Amino acid sequence: MIEASKLTEEFGCLVFNDKVMRDRLPKDIYKAVHKTIERGSHLELDVANCVAAVMKEWAVENGATHFTHWFQPMTGLTAEKHDSFISPMDDGTIIMEFSGKELVKGEPDASSFPSGGLRATFEARGYTAWDPSSPAFIKDGSLYIPTAFCSYGGEALDKKTPLLRSMEALSEEAVKVLHLLGYGDVHRVNTTIGSEQEYFLIDKDNYKKRKDLLFTGRTLIGAPATKGQEMEDHYFGVIKPKVSAYMHDLDEELWKLGIPAKTKHNEVAPAQHELAPVFETANIAVDHNQLTMEVMKKVADKHNFACLLHEKPFEGINGSGKHNNWSVCTDTGMNLLDPGKNPGENLPFLVFLMAVIAAVDEYAPILRLSVASAGNDHRLGGNEAPPAIISIFVGDELASVLKGVEEGTAYQSAGKVQMAMGAQVLPHFTKDNTDRNRTSPFAFTGNKFEFRMPGSAVSVANANIVLNTAVAEELSRLYEKLSAFSADELKDKIMDVLKEELLAHKRVLFNGNGYTEEWVEEAAKRGLPNLKSLPDAMPYWISDESIDLFTKHNIFTKEELHSRYEILLENYSKSIHIEALTMQEMVRKDFTEGLIAYQKDLTKEIIQKKSLIDGACAEHETGILKTLDASSAEMSKALTKLAVDTKTAEDKADILDQASYYEEVILKDMDEVRKYVDEAEALIPDKYLSYPTYGQLLFSLR
Ligand code: ADP
Ligand code: MG
Repeated sequence: MIEASKLTEEFGCLVFNDKVMRDRLPKDIYKAVHKTIERGSHLELDVANCVAAVMKEWAVENGATHFTHWFQPMTGLTAEKHDSFISPMDDGTIIMEFSGKELVKGEPDASSFPSGGLRATFEARGYTAWDPSSPAFIKDGSLYIPTAFCSYGGEALDKKTPLLRSMEALSEEAVKVLHLLGYGDVHRVNTTIGSEQEYFLIDKDNYKKRKDLLFTGRTLIGAPATKGQEMEDHYFGVIKPKVSAYMHDLDEELWKLGIPAKTKHNEVAPAQHELAPVFETANIAVDHNQLTMEVMKKVADKHNFACLLHEKPFEGINGSGKHNNWSVCTDTGMNLLDPGKNPGENLPFLVFLMAVIAAVDEYAPILRLSVASAGNDHRLGGNEAPPAIISIFVGDELASVLKGVEEGTAYQSAGKVQMAMGAQVLPHFTKDNTDRNRTSPFAFTGNKFEFRMPGSAVSVANANIVLNTAVAEELSRLYEKLSAFSADELKDKIMDVLKEELLAHKRVLFNGNGYTEEWVEEAAKRGLPNLKSLPDAMPYWISDESIDLFTKHNIFTKEELHSRYEILLENYSKSIHIEALTMQEMVRKDFTEGLIAYQKDLTKEIIQKKSLIDGACAEHETGILKTLDASSAEMSKALTKLAVDTKTAEDKADILDQASYYEEVILKDMDEVRKYVDEAEALIPDKYLSYPTYGQLLFSLR
């Protein structure tokens, strides 16, 4: 356990961070690495050789025997292959070696990673390339080197490469606009991200007894417990001692890895929690979130818990998301989404705000797709998470600022309002300028936007790739418009341009309740897309608009877009296919075993009662038996249909057609099976079932 007084020393103790580099690298080498990190400039091999030697020395001192290139293939998980530092000598001894070449480049066999047709399996070669902008770290005795992963032909096969490309595209366009606005000292703009991670903790033994959780991450059957989340007594509630011990351990593990875990609390649903880090540069934040998810599971195992990261582990109970807090900051320290004291006259703020509004409106379908997965589709639109319709909440103050832009009137800030709490003893403070809105998918929250649609289980890379690229495109468009004016004209004309943009995109602004039916109708009238599922949205990914956007900014080639299209669809279909098979097995075996055992006992009881007691009719027992019989008959029919349809789905040749079939037919079949299973399960005493019920899963932790 880290002592509180040692925390500042222990934070990042397993990270080859800036401080370690400053302390250990020769000055000129340190400067060269720094330049690469800050400016994105290329790194020479002699620099890499020196860094490698120092890195190895540091890693060995800290107990590492191996190194691994750590990358994020399109499975959405992370991948690693470990090599030891050892190099045998002629005299039978070894030395520990690590060269610049080994640091910079790896050659994993790429044939078993998804490539969406980019690389035939006979062209197995793939490369991993060191990303110096994300610090290396030590975990489980290995030095982990964050890397990008590409095919022999140079096509990106991972999530990091396009993310880095999108950060550069955004920076390039932003710098052009800022120079035009008179901020010539800005050389680079950074995307910053803070991703709040939601998760469930359940008892490990309970977890192991359920095939659905083991194989699919979510429960496929299960009658609701008599208590759910209706009392709203879990949100911010007292953290149970066992959970608190877990969170403590988790924080420490994350801190050692340099992950700035900051906030922890209970969430709305029973057994649901959240962890939020302090925001970081996008690329590092994405790496850190991947690591956080991994460490969460590992620490859970140590504490006899299972950590569920699926977006919808339980029916009827809130699912988990990953709010993506996003902003852009210049290398001169200016947060471009900070409205400042006088937002109505803060030109960089207004231009960047408008670029975000336009980007979200124009590229809503692609943004929707960036968070689409079989798991997340269960969550979106379920009155617990944002709807599938994308809109922006700007809050009262920004709404007034935008009204000023539209009407050509100067916006006057109401100034800070003092909070009156009615008791003198309480501290005096000023109110925030906007209240919170929990129902919006994309909300302005003071000095950043919070994109609330990403799911809890997947990397936030995709969401940020799309967001960065779409905003880069809008900035580039704005630059074209604004650069047509002379410096003298610009000041006057800029407000006209902003007004024009606002009129074109204001349909996406919505400050009301996103969970209502009225909003669904209103959004349809405004022409906002409502793409409920991944297959509905998928064609947009390879539309001309999408290809133009991503190729123009060098984020994806047309081939890379197509490969991702294939992978997303295949993953979607495979996930539901596994669920369909798991459900059939669990119902036919585990559930049926319990059902029969109970029916047997009931029948015995009825016969015995009738034979022992004169005139006994065993009405109660017979009633249950009859209901169970009726439910199981329907369940059996539904199961047969599911089995037949699953076979049909498997045989579909076209991948979009197949995914749509899984969505439209198989998921409905599964709902039907579940309906009858849950009806019956509600009548069966727990002891007959070989797996834990919802009540046991959600309320057994103390
Ligand atoms: P909430 O209002 O959603 O409860 P907070 O205000 O605490 O949460 O912030 C949530 C997340 O937003 C945190 O991870 C925080 O670090 C992050 N955040 C704050 N400022 C920025 C910024 N400029 N860019 C990106 N993320 C930010
Ligand atoms: Mg939040």
